[in-house]
Amino acid sequence: MTAPKVYKTEAIVLKHMNLGEADKILTLYTPNLGKFSAIAKGVRRPKSKMGGHLELLTQCSLMLARGQNLDIITQSETISSFLPLRSDLWHTGLALYAAELVAQFTAENVENYRIYKLLLDTLHRLSKTDNGELTLRYFELNLLTHLGYKPELHHCVGCKSSLEPRGNFFSSSGGGVLCPACREKEPLSQPVSLNGLKVMRFLQESDYPKASRLSINQDLSRELESLMRHYIRYILEREVKSVAWLDRLRREQA
Ligand SMILES: [Zn+2]
Repeated sequence: MTAPKVYKTEAIVLKHMNLGEADKILTLYTPNLGKFSAIAKGVRRPKSKMGGHLELLTQCSLMLARGQNLDIITQSETISSFLPLRSDLWHTGLALYAAELVAQFTAENVENYRIYKLLLDTLHRLSKTDNGELTLRYFELNLLTHLGYKPELHHCVGCKSSLEPRGNFFSSSGGGVLCPACREKEPLSQPVSLNGLKVMRFLQESDYPKASRLSINQDLSRELESLMRHYIRYILEREVKSVAWLDRLRREQA
């Protein structure tokens, strides 16, 4: 049996890139087909009917035709454009960071419905919450779990002993927390406070409604952000581009 020439899918637009005079190449994340790129023809023309439905960070319903290399989007309809997100630059930045992580961490054409659902839920959550950073930490910890990089937060990744309730250390190369004794062998690991460890465990083990009720101060928020950034950069072996943009936004808003 040959594959059908046209097919339908839901998708979230993760990235876009101009192609030629009026076209775009979109990177899409879908519930059942994973990540792939497709061509949207003519969408940069002012009169394009599809253009408005294919903006970055839009959840849409698409009809595609098989192309020689990339498939071609023939119809599109917006399911959700997450409007409240777009009216706030900081939340837009957080959402772009989440989309970039999904784009960077996933391989083409590998289905992972849980990642699709997590990203979709995160975009809805970022549209509603004031506590976007906590929502993002929740996203990161769950994304890492779905990708097989769940950090170990209960036992030392060096000697396997149960972690004592005190300051410990986070080892990106070890994929989790190190006790002070094992830290001697890994001086590059980062300090993690007792509260930092408690919050990470809570975010890793709770559902979102429970996790979102947590309130953490700014120092703790920065500590967790820094730990997650280091760990994610270590796994990806490259920078996440939107981090620089988020840092600049934060400086301007301070
Ligand atoms: Zn140890």
